Amino acid sequence: MKALVAHGAGDLRLDDIELESPPADSVLVRNTHGGICGSDIHYYRHGAVGAFALREPLVLGHEVVGKVADDPSKTIPAGTNVAIHPASPCGQCAECGTKVPNVCRNGRYLGSAATFPHTQGGFSEYMVVRLDQLRVLPEELPLERAVLAEPLAVGLHALNRAGGVAGKKVLIGGSGPIGILAAGAAKAAGAAEVWTTDLLDHPLQIARAVGVDHTVRIGSDTLPDQYFDVAIEASGAPSAIGPALAAVRRRGVVVQLGMFAPGPRPMELSALIAKEIDLLGAFRFSTELDESIALLAATSVLDPVVTHTYELAEAGVALDIAADASVSSKVVLKLSDV
Ligand code: ZN
Repeated sequence: MKALVAHGAGDLRLDDIELESPPADSVLVRNTHGGICGSDIHYYRHGAVGAFALREPLVLGHEVVGKVADDPSKTIPAGTNVAIHPASPCGQCAECGTKVPNVCRNGRYLGSAATFPHTQGGFSEYMVVRLDQLRVLPEELPLERAVLAEPLAVGLHALNRAGGVAGKKVLIGGSGPIGILAAGAAKAAGAAEVWTTDLLDHPLQIARAVGVDHTVRIGSDTLPDQYFDVAIEASGAPSAIGPALAAVRRRGVVVQLGMFAPGPRPMELSALIAKEIDLLGAFRFSTELDESIALLAATSVLDPVVTHTYELAEAGVALDIAADASVSSKVVLKLSDV
């Protein structure tokens, strides 16, 4: 079967790889749609994501949905639409024991070089998936939308880390796909106001299309001071933390969701102390995938986040478009015919 494989920086190939047959605790999924994430772009362009460098060829992709093709245990009928939970925590460590498997110290994640051997991803025509990683989709949720379930779960986890956002004024820093999905989720959760920021116009247009209340163009518009209860920093720019700390109220909450490359870098943190702000990290998600699927089944409001869809054979073009935030938001690969 065809699979999209990163062999090193700038070396992306559509390889023919062997299709395994599923063991008893797993099913064979015919993948239909895969969303391109920033990490896929980093593996393709730089051969690494932060400290995680490619040490062997890696099938990219962790935002994958499809249809069950074969279930040896006969519990899920062939043709059933499913999403795939990309995480497989160890189940043994202290973090797994305290029900925070998203920070499992031994965790593996689809399409990731964080562990060796690498965990092969899902940008392929088929994939063997353990039953506990499978989520059966509601009938009313089309696969074209369900492909947003994984990145939306990341946004939902950040909102949960903030202690929930119902009735609160929420600032989302950065209007990439994760930021916009977090903003849409905050609206759905009953936030009083949701604002998003970006350096570029196009992401702010997408933000307005999903119903964000106010958009702020960094460099030309200004953010109100001490206005927000919660800020979710989704841009990954260390320079954005200072403005987020300034924009939240005293005793407000700032959640760092955007990833940083390793290494020290300057940031303005003085307000953290004087305003007694809670500054928290958010990493991936755990049970939020189920919340995410339910939300996507209930509303089409997040559909504008998917701006482009390409065939797997056009993956190089798709990754280049996905890397250009001035024209795209979430770019989706069609992994096989529905
Ligand atoms: Zn664990």
